[in-house]
Amino acid sequence: MLKINNLYAHYGNIEALHGVSLEVGNKDIVALIGSNGAGKTTLLRAISSLVTRNGEICYNGENIEKQSPRYIAKAGLLHVPEGRHVFPGLTVQQNLEVGSVSWRGIKNASVAEDLERVFSLFPRLEERRKQYAWSLSGGEQQMLAIGRAIMGRPKLLMLDEPSMGLAPKVIDELFVKILEINSMGVPILLVEQNALLAMEVSQKVYILEGGRIVLQGDSKDIINDARVKEAYLGKL
Ligand code: ATP
Repeated sequence: MLKINNLYAHYGNIEALHGVSLEVGNKDIVALIGSNGAGKTTLLRAISSLVTRNGEICYNGENIEKQSPRYIAKAGLLHVPEGRHVFPGLTVQQNLEVGSVSWRGIKNASVAEDLERVFSLFPRLEERRKQYAWSLSGGEQQMLAIGRAIMGRPKLLMLDEPSMGLAPKVIDELFVKILEINSMGVPILLVEQNALLAMEVSQKVYILEGGRIVLQGDSKDIINDARVKEAYLGKL
C-alpha cells in the first residue's frame, strides 16, 4: 500500500537520502533501523512532506510526492514525531481532541467514540484525562502522542523512536500497545534505535546507513544475520 521508490531528500544543499526504496504492506509492522544520523527521521519527514523530497511515494497507487503535509495527513498517513510534541499546556483530553478525525473531513465522526477507543487502549490516559500534558511521565506522554494519532483513525502510523528515554518496563508496556494497534488493522512504519526490539515486533526490517538502505528482509532472518548482530545488537 505504501511504496517508496528512489526517494531523495534535502536540507538546503545537503542531501540526506540518496535513492531510498521501501514498502509497507497492509498489515505490516515494518522496522527502520540504523545508527544516529542515518536518515531514519528524514525518511518519515519525507513521507509526511516535511522536508524537500523527490522520488516516488505511492500510497494505494497514487503518487503523493508532490502533495502537502495536510493532504498526506488527511489521507490517513499519520506521523508521531520523535520527542512526542504533545501540547504541554493542554489537558490529556484536549490533546486527544486536537487529533480528532473531524479535520480529515470524515462524515459522522464521533469524537466521543474515538476518545473511548483511545481510553480503552490506554486506560492510564483516561485516569489522567484532566491533567495537563506537562505533568505526565515520559511513557504517558508517548502514549498521549500515539493516542492523539489514533484519534485521527490512521491508515498508516509512522512512529519515530517511541522508546526514546523510557525505562525498559515502560518500553515493554508501550510495545504491547503498539502490537495491539497493529492487530486492529493499522500498518506501522517504526523507526527505532533499539534494533533488537524493533526486529522482534516487526515482520520486515530495513537498515538505513548514510541515507541508503544497506540491508532489508524478513526480521526473523535479519535478526540472525552475523553482520547485523555485530553492528546493531552487540551494543545492547
Ligand atoms: P537519529 O537517530 O540521530 O535521530 P536519524 O537516522 O533519524 O538519526 P536524521 O535525523 O534523519 O537521522 O538525519 C539524517 C542526516 O540529515 C544527518 O546527517 C543530519 O545531520 C542531517 N539533518 C537532519 N536534520 C537536518 C536539518 N534540519 N538541517 C540540516 N541537516 C539535517
